[in-house]
Amino acid sequence: MGYVIELDGVTQTFVSSDGSPVTALDNVNLSLNRHEFVAVIGPSGCGKSTILRLIAGLLRPSAGTVSIYDLPVTEPRDEIGVVFQKPTLLPWLSVLDNITFPMKHKYGRVDDRDKERARELLAMIGLRDFAAKRPNELSGGMQQRVAIARSLLHDPDILLMDEPFSALDALTRDEMSFELLRIWSERPKTVVFVTHSIQEALLLSDRIVVMSARPGRVAEIIDVPLARPRNLQTLSDPVFHELANEIRVKVFSRKPE
Ligand code: ADP
Ligand code: MG
Repeated sequence: MGYVIELDGVTQTFVSSDGSPVTALDNVNLSLNRHEFVAVIGPSGCGKSTILRLIAGLLRPSAGTVSIYDLPVTEPRDEIGVVFQKPTLLPWLSVLDNITFPMKHKYGRVDDRDKERARELLAMIGLRDFAAKRPNELSGGMQQRVAIARSLLHDPDILLMDEPFSALDALTRDEMSFELLRIWSERPKTVVFVTHSIQEALLLSDRIVVMSARPGRVAEIIDVPLARPRNLQTLSDPVFHELANEIRVKVFSRKPE
């Protein structure tokens, strides 16, 4: 009780195209405290995206319960920002209109404050001059940054991010990580951040959930003892590298033979 997000005994079974059942998640328990930043790592297909879809209310669990603020999740909620693995922008709208689209969808209109905030976010993600462009005029990494800006527009209390930086080059990735940390410290949020990268998980999070391969289970939850604020120095801190190695061993030892 009292958690912002809670998965209690969550099992998720899908029916694959040949009719056989696939257990994507098996008895997953996970609780997030208010304003906690939790990273989820694990091999491809272990159910990371499924966890986010369950929390986002886009999927109902086959068994167990998913709760937000102690209430079972039954449908998508406005106070949650989601960044999917793919940018999912609307091709016929400009970049600016894509960022404000959730407001338009919800209220039927976009006010000047939203537009101003969208422009601020565009500047933050380094795309100030791209407001009037269409998504297909942007690279994959730029589109993903627009999707991140869109998720932040209404300053959500809960942010769910599915490998949001994986389409970015290494430099932009570090920049976006620090930007995300800055936003999170200025406007605290409860964050679930799915990633393939141990370094990224370490740099960003308070705790790292290590998932095992299919069926996805929580293998281990690791506290990240690195001080905040984290910055470029964090990346060169010997403790950072020791931790990364420890976690790498754990993740590898979970790989199926
Ligand atoms: P991850 O994000 O960790 O790579 P996913 O959560 O996307 O993994 O998927 C977990 C498992 O569930 C995979 O085996 C995937 O094929 C399966 N799966 C996910 N969604 C569906 C679906 N809608 N129908 C059938 N199988 C699915
Ligand atoms: Mg995924």
